[in-house]
Amino acid sequence: MTSSTAPTPALHPATLAAHGGSSVADPYRDLAPPLHLSTTFERAADGSYPGGRVYSRDQSPAYDGVEQLLAQLEGGSQALLFASGMAAASAVLQALRPGDRVLAPQSLYWAWRNWLHEFCAHWGITLVEYANTDLAELEHQLNAAPTQLLWIETPANPTWEITDIAAAAALAKAAGARTVVDSTVATPVFTRPLELGADIVLHSATKALNGHSDVVAGALICARQDDFWQRIRRARSLGGAVLGPFEAWLLQRGLRTLFVRVRAAAANADQLAHFLASHPAVRAVRYPGLANDPGHAVARTQMHGGFGAMLSLQLAGGAEHAKAVAGRLRLFRQATSLGAVESLVEHRASVEGVGTRVPDDLLRVSVGIEAVEDLLADWAQALAE
Ligand SMILES: *Cc1c(COP(=O)(O)O)cnc(C)c1O
Repeated sequence: MTSSTAPTPALHPATLAAHGGSSVADPYRDLAPPLHLSTTFERAADGSYPGGRVYSRDQSPAYDGVEQLLAQLEGGSQALLFASGMAAASAVLQALRPGDRVLAPQSLYWAWRNWLHEFCAHWGITLVEYANTDLAELEHQLNAAPTQLLWIETPANPTWEITDIAAAAALAKAAGARTVVDSTVATPVFTRPLELGADIVLHSATKALNGHSDVVAGALICARQDDFWQRIRRARSLGGAVLGPFEAWLLQRGLRTLFVRVRAAAANADQLAHFLASHPAVRAVRYPGLANDPGHAVARTQMHGGFGAMLSLQLAGGAEHAKAVAGRLRLFRQATSLGAVESLVEHRASVEGVGTRVPDDLLRVSVGIEAVEDLLADWAQALAE
C-alpha cells in the first residue's frame, strides 16, 4: 500500500510478465509463487468452504496467477488453462452443437486439422475449409450458410501464411459467427487478436509461452464471459482435461522471461531468414518478416516488434537434399515442436505423413535464442556441401 493518491499507470505487458502474475503470498511474503498440490480443500464445521474451493479439477490455486497473467497479456476478460493446446482447441469445439458449421483454414497445425476432419463428422458439425489468405472466399463461405465459428491460425504452421485478423473477424461478426485465433506462433508479444476483433485466443503453451521444452499445456483467453465461454468452462471442469499444478508452476516461471526470449528469438529468425533467402542452395524461404513474403504487408499491420521465430525453407536440391541438410546441422536439433530457447529443425512432410499438404523439400525451423553468428555458421556449413 502506498499513501500516494496518484493513479497507478497501466503497466506494459512485459512488466506484468516479468513479475510472473504472482502477488506476494502470506505468511512468508514469497516472491516466487508457492506450489499448491492439494486436490481437495477442507470444509469448516458449518459445512462451508472458507478457502472458496472444493476440488482441484477445476479450481486449482496453481492456475490463478497464470490465468490472470495470460488474460492481461492478451487484453482479455478471462483465461483458462488446459492439459494441452489440443485439449484447449477441442474444448472450443465441444461448446458447439450438432448441426453447427465451422470454417477452418486449409493450412493449419496438422494434429488440429486431423482432429477437425475426424471429430466434426462424428459429432454432426459441418467443416468447411477456406484458403488462409483469401478474404473474398472467406466472405463467400461465411454467407453461404449459417456459420457459428471461424477458426484462424496466423502465422499458419508450417508455411506461415498470414490471415488478416481484423478483416476476417469483421466478416465473421457480420455473418453472426465467432472468431477463434490460434496465436501460438505470434505470441502476445507480437499480436493481440482480441484487440483486432477476435472473440477467443488459443495458445499451445507448450511452445513459446513456456519456452523450455518441458511442459505440455494449452490456454484459451476470451474477450467476454458469455454463454459460449461458460460452455467451454463446463467442457473443462466436467471433461477434466486440466493441467497439473507443477506444469502450471513451470509455465508461470517460463512466462517471466517471455518477452526477452521471444524478442531475441524473432530477431535471430529475421537474420537467419535474410541469410537463407540470399543463399544459392535455397529455393524459397517463407518468413513473414521478409519484404517479398506474400504475408508481409498484412503482418506489418498486426504483428508489432517482430514476425515470430518460425520460418521454413525449400531447398534447390529437393527432398533428399533437404533431409541430408537437416542431418548435417549441429546446433539445430532435429526434433518437432517450436518456440523454445534452443533451435530446432524438421523435415515437416515426414512428420505429417500421408495426406500432408506440405511440400516434400520443406524444412521447418524454430529459431532459438543462441548467438546468431553460431546459428548462421551452422546453416553455412550444412548448406556448403
Ligand atoms: C503445437 C500446436 C498446437 C497443439 O498444442 P499441444 O500443446 O501440442 O497440444 C496447436 N496449434 C499450434 C499452432 C501448435 O503449434
